[in-house]
Amino acid sequence: MSPFSSSNSSHLTSGTTHRGVPSRCWCGNEITMFTSKTDENPYRRFYRCVQGVKDKKEKHMFRWVDDALLEEIRMIENKHKQLLEDVNVLRKMVVDNVEVQNKLMQEMKQQMNKEMNEIIQQELTDTKESLEKSNMKTVCILVVVAASILWLCGNVV
Ligand SMILES: [Zn+2]
Repeated sequence: MSPFSSSNSSHLTSGTTHRGVPSRCWCGNEITMFTSKTDENPYRRFYRCVQGVKDKKEKHMFRWVDDALLEEIRMIENKHKQLLEDVNVLRKMVVDNVEVQNKLMQEMKQQMNKEMNEIIQQELTDTKESLEKSNMKTVCILVVVAASILWLCGNVV
């Protein structure tokens, strides 16, 4: 498996939580790409800690490039799937929100119609009352005028 006969590659990668293409080793050193020259993996490329090349006793970062890229693709696929799910959830939220708003709008419209009707009714009643009052006034004035005319006529005759 590993181009380093002394170490176990599965053990090398299991200590880190980072998946996909590594950017740094746990020791803080940069990762460089190398090409394997072993008979088992000829020309197979791998990532290796710079320090790990010098100091082969310590277990520094090692990862095959094709494995890392495959992991990277799977991670992107998972992210894509997650994004799609998020979009669906958001879409549902927007639809629900629109429905709630429509319902609210409908209720507001009904409430406004009701209030407008009440106001119109009230206005109509008020106008009717004031009209009746002014009619009463006219009648009173007419009566007074008629009485005055009659009185004047009575005086003349
Ligand atoms: Zn290292």
